[in-house]
Amino acid sequence: MHEVSLAGGVIRLVEDALAREPRVRVKRVVLAVGALAGVEVRALRFALDALAPGSVLAGAAIELDEVAGQAWCLNCAANVPIHSRLDDCPQCGGRWLQPNGGTELSVRELIVEDLPDAPDASAHQEPASCASSAAVTSVH
Ligand SMILES: [Zn+2]
Repeated sequence: MHEVSLAGGVIRLVEDALAREPRVRVKRVVLAVGALAGVEVRALRFALDALAPGSVLAGAAIELDEVAGQAWCLNCAANVPIHSRLDDCPQCGGRWLQPNGGTELSVRELIVEDLPDAPDASAHQEPASCASSAAVTSVH
């Protein structure tokens, strides 16, 4: 399936983006999927869900944002909305359309969060909070 290799490409792209930040994990990724990109959104969603566990996208919210198709009509000299590369111009019925919107599959947003602190740091914090709650009970 075409979408499986696309999903793999998205994961590699995110891996590359995070290569210099080993202390973060992906919280949310938003992909822009153009109507003219030749991508079946549901198949891509399925492939991403299948590949995410064990990858850099494990546990991340994955959102697919569909971008409407648009083309420049030479006859109308205007941008017109289209749903497929095979569409004629919805205004004049002309065939001279140059797709110029919704042709991409791209990562629009990548939100990361820091990984929890190293075990050393949290071990340092814990006795302090235990001590304060112990103090509260001893007042009783
Ligand atoms: Zn037209």
